[in-house]
Amino acid sequence: MHDHASHYDSNCIFCRIAKGEIPSRKVYEDDEVFAFHDINPAAPVHFLMIPKKHIASMAHLSEADAPLLGRMMALAPKLALEQGCNPYPAGGYRVVVNTGVEGGQEVHHLHLHVMGGARPWLKG
Ligand code: 5GP
Ligand code: ZN
Repeated sequence: MHDHASHYDSNCIFCRIAKGEIPSRKVYEDDEVFAFHDINPAAPVHFLMIPKKHIASMAHLSEADAPLLGRMMALAPKLALEQGCNPYPAGGYRVVVNTGVEGGQEVHHLHLHVMGGARPWLKG
């Protein structure tokens, strides 16, 4: 069941980052999750959290993925603070999942953007 290799897409840039085939500035890694700094940050803190297994987008999620996505959501606040986001409520962060073309998704491997730090930001 934990055969991540079978979920690897060699044409997918984020699969390759999770495997270390493409370098990234790592924020966090465990069995199922990888997090790394966005190469083009839109905020003072901007990192991405991905499942190691290839899931193309949020539109591809099934009920079986709920625990994995739940873990990622629960992990985001801890990583956000570690990476320099300021504490709630005066600080905080934004968690975004762009989905599909009209949702602004450019890389088709599901990822959470976690953005924070002092305003102003580049976008939003
Ligand atoms: P999307 O538009 O799909 O939600 O976001 C894709 C994000 O991935 C963008 O913010 C972009 O800067 C980031 N990105 C694209 N390619 C790379 C890469 O090779 N390395 C890193 N670290 N980030 C990337
Ligand atoms: Zn992938």
